[in-house]
Amino acid sequence: MGVPLRQQFSIASYLVKQKLKGREKYPLVLMLEPLFRCNLACAGCGKIDYPDEILNKRLSVEDCLAAVDECGAPVISIAGGEPLLHKELPQVVDGIIARKKYVYLCTNALLLRKKMDDYKPSPYLTFSVHLDGERERHDTSVCQEGVFEKAVEAIKLALDKGFRVTINCTLFQGETAPEVAKFLDYVRDLGVEGITISPGFSYERAPQQGIFIKSVETKELFRDIFRLGKGRKWRLNHSSLFLDFLAGNQGYNCTPWGNPTRNVFGWQKPCYLLSDEGYASSFKGLMEETPWQKYGTVRNPKCVNCMAHCGYEATAVADAMSNPLKALLVSMRGPRTEGAMVEQAVPQYEVPVEGAAIDSGRVETPPHSC
Ligand code: SF4
Ligand code: SF4
Repeated sequence: MGVPLRQQFSIASYLVKQKLKGREKYPLVLMLEPLFRCNLACAGCGKIDYPDEILNKRLSVEDCLAAVDECGAPVISIAGGEPLLHKELPQVVDGIIARKKYVYLCTNALLLRKKMDDYKPSPYLTFSVHLDGERERHDTSVCQEGVFEKAVEAIKLALDKGFRVTINCTLFQGETAPEVAKFLDYVRDLGVEGITISPGFSYERAPQQGIFIKSVETKELFRDIFRLGKGRKWRLNHSSLFLDFLAGNQGYNCTPWGNPTRNVFGWQKPCYLLSDEGYASSFKGLMEETPWQKYGTVRNPKCVNCMAHCGYEATAVADAMSNPLKALLVSMRGPRTEGAMVEQAVPQYEVPVEGAAIDSGRVETPPHSC
């Protein structure tokens, strides 16, 4: 399995069209966040600490479909909050499918069993279930016992009913390569289509700040994971060059316009990970008003440890389009796990003296239990 050929072809044709049109900045995945309310309270969440008046807001069906049309991306990732709490979500999903766009409905799966029959299996619809590891790791990550069990039951039911299902997994501090490898074996044996795996981004709004991995440790962790993965046939839903980037072999700049975000505040600048950079009232406004040159790991201290796929997958895909042979070789051999990593680029901003406060706008909150 893996991403079906029909979807790969459709995205490849979209990319070729953008190239032929000579567009430098174009969206690949629309991040649609129709609400921030959730039925969990995870330690690493960047959304749920808003006041009730914000958590009670919803994007209407019309708002959601207008965003899909305005943006034009071939893939829509519906996230949140917990999207299944949105009463009109089935209409949103139907509208996206009617436009022949691929929709990934991201869910923690607590409501999936109950709501599943509001949706019909379709090659355009995938349930993307949040699982951060096996039982103990996941329940700790989402700060509630029993969530893993419920999510796995819902995944099995969705597969039985003929839905496409993927897993999205975020790695935090304290993960070891053998633990992640065991989880990837488990996911493979569950029979889902694939898994996206990303190092947790240190959200300014997350309740716990000490749980995020630094980028150097991330690269070492991924090398260890990929070393263990040889021959184990994991289904990682990423481009080969993005995996090579995670292993420290590609020195990419981020492409935040590849995954533009529409949420209850408007179009978020520059990406869904940074919460205090302002909003545009339209997609056109987002593309034209955002000072894109200010963002990326070497340009902005807020971005310093970011290796998230929303910033770098689109960069890797563009690199693969320009260097197909390189992408093919990495795809055949897997990411390189030995030898020197690419050098860390020198920051273009003033680096604070050790021990001094970083002017990142981040409010360092002491970790608290959930
Ligand atoms: S499931 Fe997602 S949205 Fe809900 S609290 Fe956890 S990280 Fe936040
Ligand atoms: S590096 Fe890019 S994707 Fe990551 S937080 Fe900064 S702007 Fe967003």
